[in-house]
Amino acid sequence: MKELKDLVRANIFALKPYSCARSEFKGQASVFLDANENPMNGPYNRYPDPLQLSLKEKIAKIKGVRPSQIMLGNGSDEPIDLIIRIFCEPKRDNIVAIDPTYGMYEVCADVNDVEYRKVQLNADFDLDSAKLLASVDANTKVIFLCSPNNPTGNLLNRNEMRKVLDSFDGIVVIDEAYVDFSSQPTWLAELDKFPRLIVLHTFSKAWGLASVRCGMAFASEDIIGYFNKVKYPYNINLLTQNFVSEQLDNEAKKKEWVSMILAERKRMIDELGKTPIVKAVYPTDANFVLVKVDDADTIYNTLMQRGVIVRNRNKITLCKGCLRITIGTKAENDTLLADLRAM
Ligand SMILES: *Cc1c(COP(=O)(O)O)cnc(C)c1O
Repeated sequence: MKELKDLVRANIFALKPYSCARSEFKGQASVFLDANENPMNGPYNRYPDPLQLSLKEKIAKIKGVRPSQIMLGNGSDEPIDLIIRIFCEPKRDNIVAIDPTYGMYEVCADVNDVEYRKVQLNADFDLDSAKLLASVDANTKVIFLCSPNNPTGNLLNRNEMRKVLDSFDGIVVIDEAYVDFSSQPTWLAELDKFPRLIVLHTFSKAWGLASVRCGMAFASEDIIGYFNKVKYPYNINLLTQNFVSEQLDNEAKKKEWVSMILAERKRMIDELGKTPIVKAVYPTDANFVLVKVDDADTIYNTLMQRGVIVRNRNKITLCKGCLRITIGTKAENDTLLADLRAM
């Protein structure tokens, strides 16, 4: 097995990170004349904690990990970009990912000028580890898996994922943005077993905080150290740290929302299945459902004219004729069903 430092880009390994006033000082003090802040207008006059320790302590309790295994970002999109910047040498290294999946992995690879290799899922949208691993070469640094997957909604086969973790000598990212809606446990419990595993969670879906932009990466302390070296020092502002911390006290509310959405998901799967223009409803462990229809573009446009927006996935690999429908409130879901049945 390669050492972590052999996977990290040489310039990042050698990087001397920016040292901010707030991270140099550790201890108790009452006079802060170190950071050129305005002494008035507290508490937002002060630079925030660059490592967000008090928020991470709360998250750690809920997620069952150590605070030192957490990196917080501006959505999950920030850690996705940082993973590529930490491990992939532009124009030389490559990334292997399932296809179809979340579009940001490829966009971030392209921005960083890193080759992005797509490996098509099976016809039932599942992972074939042997096929995926056949695309790996000596320059593959990162594999992206997403489970439950977007836009298909299904979980990837856990044994196949485990084979990838066991065989690949590099970083494996498992994006679990939809884990709260899933019947399967998170991979977080396996972090200590797989030191090259990075698990992504977000506050954007089940927690109902998409506009707040706060995502989580969980990994070994060694990997978190590289995230901390490369990220902007004050990437999570104090408003966000305080607000997310308050919201974490509402875990019961989040669980209520998830139960409501799961009940609606079940009802929508049944109702969509009884809707004539729907040709297939695919299994889902997320808060959305992928459906195949007769003429996706026309149905998408007609819905849009009526003010109902769904996601047209007609041009995506394996998703020809498919629309991705988020589970909304009962009233929103009923509007969609009525519009589909009137076509
Ligand atoms: C929605 C989503 C995210 C969340 O992204 P944020 O930047 O945290 O809002 C991450 N991964 C997948 C697969 C998603 O569908």
